This record gives sequence, C-alpha cells and structure tokens, in this order.
Amino acid sequence: MESTDKIKLGISACLLGQSVRYNGGHQLDHFLKDTLGRYVEYVPVCPEVECGFGVPREAFRLVGKPDRPRLMTINTKQDFTERMEEWARKRVTEIEGEGLYGFIFKGGSPSSGMERVKVYDDKGMPAKIGVGIFARIFMEHFPLTPVEEDGRLHDPVLRENFIERIFALRRMAKVSQEGNSLRAIVDFHTRNKLLIMSHSPNHLQEMGRLVANTKGSIPQRLIKRYQELLMEALKLKATAKKNTNVLMHMLGYFKKELDPSEKQEVLEIIDEYRRELIPLIVPMTLIGHFVRKYDQPYLKEQTYLNPHPLELQLRNHV
Ligand code: SF4
Repeated sequence: MESTDKIKLGISACLLGQSVRYNGGHQLDHFLKDTLGRYVEYVPVCPEVECGFGVPREAFRLVGKPDRPRLMTINTKQDFTERMEEWARKRVTEIEGEGLYGFIFKGGSPSSGMERVKVYDDKGMPAKIGVGIFARIFMEHFPLTPVEEDGRLHDPVLRENFIERIFALRRMAKVSQEGNSLRAIVDFHTRNKLLIMSHSPNHLQEMGRLVANTKGSIPQRLIKRYQELLMEALKLKATAKKNTNVLMHMLGYFKKELDPSEKQEVLEIIDEYRRELIPLIVPMTLIGHFVRKYDQPYLKEQTYLNPHPLELQLRNHV
C-alpha cells in the first residue's frame, strides 16, 4: 500500500509511545503502532500537553455531574474545564482539514477517554460513567467518524468492527470525491451489499430503498443519508449467525457449478463456523476460491470478501 493510500486516523499520542503522560510515561500499544500502523497514518493528539500543561504535571480527574463533569487537578483542586473545552473546540475545527477516518482514544483518561471514565462525586466516590472532555467534543463534532479505545481494540470482534468501519468510510469518501454522482452511490451499494448484510439485514433493506429511489434526489443529501446509515449499520456486530446467512447466500450463487460433494464440503465448513469451531477466514477462503475459479461476476466485486488487509488477520479468531 502506497503511503498516499494510507488511511488517516487520529490517536491519543501516548498510545504511540510519546512520553506525554502526567508522570512522563507513555502507554505504547504495539498492535496500534506497529501492526495497524503499517496501514494507517496517525495524527497524534495529546489534549493535556497541547492545551499547555507540561510534562510532568499534576494529574486530572473528572468531578461533579456525570453528563457535564468538571476537569479538576486531583491535589490542588484547580478547575481547568473551560480552558480544555475552549482548546478542544478549536482543535476539532483544525482537525476537519486533516480528513480523519477514525480516532483511537486512550481509555479511562479524563481528557481522552471515550466512555466509562471515572467521575468523582462530592464525597470523592468514583463512578465509571463519564467521557473525557476532548473525546466528548470530538464525538459531538464528528458524529459519523468511527471511534474506539485502546483496551476495546484488544477484543477481536470490536477490533475487526472498527477497522472495517474505517476502511468502509474511506471507500465511501472516494464516492464523494469522485463527484457525488448517483451512479457512483448505486455502484458502491452493489459492491458493499454483503458486507452490510453481515452487520444488519434491516439497514441493507433501508439503504437499498434509498438508492432505488434516486429520482429527483440531490446527490449530496442522498450520500449524507446513505453514509449515516452505513456507519450505523457497520457499528452493529457481525455475529456468527449473520455471517452464516451471508455465506449461505454466497453459496447459492454456485448451484450449477458445484457438484454434490463440493457443496457438502462447503456446507460442513459453514456449519463448523456457525458453531464457532473454526474462524471466518476458513469458509471465506473456500468460497473465495470458488468465486475466482468460476469468475462469479457479482461476488468477485463484493468488499465482503476483502474488506481490510488480510495481513491484519482480523477474521482469524474463533
Ligand atoms: S490519555 Fe490523552 S491526555 Fe493523557 S497522556 Fe494520553 S493523549 Fe495525553
């Protein structure tokens, strides 16, 4: 993959090994930096350092109302909420120009945590119900941009889901860049049907209706709505049950080509996947082989067969 093809992702700077934590340390995540880092170009952001707090600095925590907590230093109890919010609002506007397809936040941080950040009440008791100040302002500003946290990305299902979304969003952005034509959105929908089906058959239907009734539509509005539905759909988990439905649907394209023993072999492998005995990569590889062998025109265009780089091994887990 050329460097110009790399997907731009925002990331909490400490996850790349930058020594920006309050105590001068970092939170290097090897998967994010070394493995995923081969396919993406990171835009590191450390809200606390960029907002003017040095390293080392006094640690912060969130205090007060869960929906609008204050950002306070722990020992000296200084309130820096307004300063951080003002900086964050300016920073997200600058980030617009970066063309980010996602953001990976450092979990638990009062500035960068995406969810379940500790908020302390007036008795000093914590509850994991808050969102870091910068993360909240980022998510409000970019509601469609995929976001995740470092810890959650160690879960193979959440990892695949996030990476699938950023690659899909980039493919979608290319449609907009290519001139917003209605034809392009219909083509995009055709190529991504099985991928969407693996996450949400209901969304697939709704999106199908949207692209089937393009007469009189304004392309920009249609693309915006389509993109909202796409991100909503892909956020839903692609379960073994949903993937099994898609695999069976694909098998239906080979009614004439496969002899009974070949068909039986595929059915057995799909069933082993459904029972979560083998990873998705196994039936996908077998069906992918038939797609190439018989040059199946519809299936060979499906992004479901190749939604992200194989080297990331995202479909190798059971
Ligand atoms: S969690 Fe956020 S604010 Fe804290 S060091 Fe990492 S990037 Fe900076």
